Amino acid sequence: MHFGRALNELSIAFEIMRKLKTLLIFVLLSSVSLSAWGRTPKYVFYFIGDGMGINQAAATEMYMHSVGLGDLNFRHFPYTGFVTTTPANSRVTDSAAAGSALSTGHKTYNSAIGVNADTVEVETLCERVIRSGYAAGVASSDAVDLATPAAFYAHAGNRNDYENIAGDLVASKLSFAAGASIKSNGKGNDAWVAEAERKGFTVFGGDNKYSPCNGPVICLSDDMSKSNLSYAIDRKEGQTSLEEFTSAAIDHLYRNSRKGFFLMVEGAMIDHACHSRDAGAMVSEIMDFSKSVDCALRFYEQHPDETLIVVTSDHETGYVMITYGETSLVGNQKCSMNELTDIFLEMSADGNIPGWPEVKQVLSDKLGLWSKVPVTKDEEKVFTQLYKESFLDLTSDMQKDLYNSNKKLAFEAVNLLGRKAGINLFGSSHSGSPVGLYVKGACADEFIVCKDNTDISKVIARVARYK
Ligand SMILES: [Zn+2]
Repeated sequence: MHFGRALNELSIAFEIMRKLKTLLIFVLLSSVSLSAWGRTPKYVFYFIGDGMGINQAAATEMYMHSVGLGDLNFRHFPYTGFVTTTPANSRVTDSAAAGSALSTGHKTYNSAIGVNADTVEVETLCERVIRSGYAAGVASSDAVDLATPAAFYAHAGNRNDYENIAGDLVASKLSFAAGASIKSNGKGNDAWVAEAERKGFTVFGGDNKYSPCNGPVICLSDDMSKSNLSYAIDRKEGQTSLEEFTSAAIDHLYRNSRKGFFLMVEGAMIDHACHSRDAGAMVSEIMDFSKSVDCALRFYEQHPDETLIVVTSDHETGYVMITYGETSLVGNQKCSMNELTDIFLEMSADGNIPGWPEVKQVLSDKLGLWSKVPVTKDEEKVFTQLYKESFLDLTSDMQKDLYNSNKKLAFEAVNLLGRKAGINLFGSSHSGSPVGLYVKGACADEFIVCKDNTDISKVIARVARYK
């Protein structure tokens, strides 16, 4: 009898515990969905470091630490991971297929813009953002109709179809677009700008720098004759920077959108530096890219519950490896390999033949070689041989990569400095290595499911509640 009562009390206790458990689960689920609702980002930043592999970012931070510049901001975002970049038709992607994957969530073939592997148009992320009632913008340090920005607003079977891509841009409902220039096949800046203005865009460029206004805006650089912005390491006073574009974009999008906005920013020149195997230009370019991320971080401080910042890359370029070396040495580089080539070309203009001491002095001034960075006799022997070929024999003079043509002496000297700094660029093309994903702000933890570049825009659209 006594035992039966105890059993009964025990079963009542179990029943109470079961009900409490149900209540606890209900409370937990409610708080999760409430917090997810409360965290819905109104302002979404999508930064793409073109060619910025995991090692490029890590090497840049290693350099920053070595000279007391602190952390590379996005490497310390609360959520970090990595994503694969393989396109539909190859092991290694180009910026078009990768940009399309990052924008549309579809795998496609190299050179495709906003179309799937069957060349069928698929909705770009900016189109989806606009359809959902938000403002959308893109900004790039390269031409505004090149592959990465194009993949966010245009549709073309081939990335070189600039005329159609530039046409898609002026026909788009983008609130903001910025790039160094417009390629738009032969039409030139003037004709295209006139067309953009007819379609209602306010166009800034040249001496006419961005100033606040209403309606859609296109920002081009101070020198629209150049396809891309200057490398950060070569930038002179008054030359346009990606940071300027980012800051203009935030100002314009915030004031011209009630519901919220989406902004894609591409650091295109990282890829250029890596194609040239130029470690100093690469490090400086990634540090410069992080200044644009800083603009978003300052915005985030003002709107911490409603801002999402995603930083990633389209692919790795340059087969970068971090090896033994003294990282701080790369800071001795004062100009890009490309500008060093221009200096050499100028020195030998009009049949002038500079002597080796003169050329050696330039290498010392621009790269710190001999003065701050020890050069062995064997290394100098390689330099003097290249000097002879370049300035005396005028043979096998230039070395071409995807974007630039550099004097072999400039290549060897810059590349040697990179090797001494332990930042080795073993190749001049893209690789199939996965890239980093760095996320901060509202719903950052939701990006844990991203394993491939096609996953990212799907998560952005889900958490930002795009239709
Ligand atoms: Zn590239």
